[in-house]
Amino acid sequence: MPVVVLAGGVGAARFLEGLVKVMPPEEITVIINTGDDMANFMGLYISPDIDIVTYTLAGKVDPKKGWGIRGDTFYCLEMLQRLGFDTWFMLGDQDLGTHLARTMMMKQGWSLSKVTKVISQSLGVRCHLLPMTESWVPTRIMTDVGLMHFEEYLVKRKARDKVEDVIFDGVEAAKPSPGIFEVIEQADTIIVAPSNPIVSIGPILAVPGIRQALIDAGAPRVAISPIIGGRTVKGPADKLMAAQGVEVSPRGVAELYRDFLDVLVIDLQDRMLKSSIEAMGIEVVVKQTMMTSLRRKKALALAVLKAARKLTNG
Ligand code: GDP
Repeated sequence: MPVVVLAGGVGAARFLEGLVKVMPPEEITVIINTGDDMANFMGLYISPDIDIVTYTLAGKVDPKKGWGIRGDTFYCLEMLQRLGFDTWFMLGDQDLGTHLARTMMMKQGWSLSKVTKVISQSLGVRCHLLPMTESWVPTRIMTDVGLMHFEEYLVKRKARDKVEDVIFDGVEAAKPSPGIFEVIEQADTIIVAPSNPIVSIGPILAVPGIRQALIDAGAPRVAISPIIGGRTVKGPADKLMAAQGVEVSPRGVAELYRDFLDVLVIDLQDRMLKSSIEAMGIEVVVKQTMMTSLRRKKALALAVLKAARKLTNG
């Protein structure tokens, strides 16, 4: 039963930790946002969301931060700082190994898809990880103090600037990575992970053809709301949704996915929104969605698969 998951970083990785425990990981393809990528940061090609998913599924992620490698050291960064470089983007020593490897492979002409496969498989990940595109599509945030790369907005400036617009630079000319249309077409279940709907899932849906492939797909499409009780669990999704004029609630999430979504899983805290979301033609499953333990992650994954199966079996 092939399953496709659209994914950003931390929220998706947490969900996937549960999903791989309740079904064969080899049957899961994860389509990952690359809008956060930096193509030449200190000479390195960095793919933050791909790395978060890879490290998490490899059992290596720093569980407190949700990104980076558990127990990593920062000697390289300390030296760079001493040499007068601005080190706003945290790069652990082991983590740097990944970025060096990726950059070297890409310099040899390997595609981001191939590099992602090699790195994830070398670290023991059994799901198939696919970047949403191999084209260069950086997410830029227009703020009251100017235009900046998403990582600069989030990490360097700590999401403090007023957001005026979100731009997926170059997306009109981007192509989905090879195989994406096929996996969506052949999937039994399509899942939209609890990721930032604007800057993690948004870029994936903006790659020409992907949104239409989801609309045309025969498989049930189930999303998990990353918004609980009018707030994000982490990250700037609430600020970005508000800036885009979207209600900061599971109803706002439903609005963003409305043209292709069959089922939205919302948190118990938001159960009063069930009927208004159902009025949009989307089924609602109310569930504990805060993934604070492996047991909860597995329960959420099972609930998603059950909702999809129910639709398939009519
Ligand atoms: P970021 O906003 O750039 O950090 O992007 P991510 O795509 O990594 O998404 C973080 C999203 O995951 C946020 O909107 C969180 O609310 C969501 N999230 C993180 N942990 C959980 C969780 O345990 N449950 C749910 N429902 N959402 C979560």
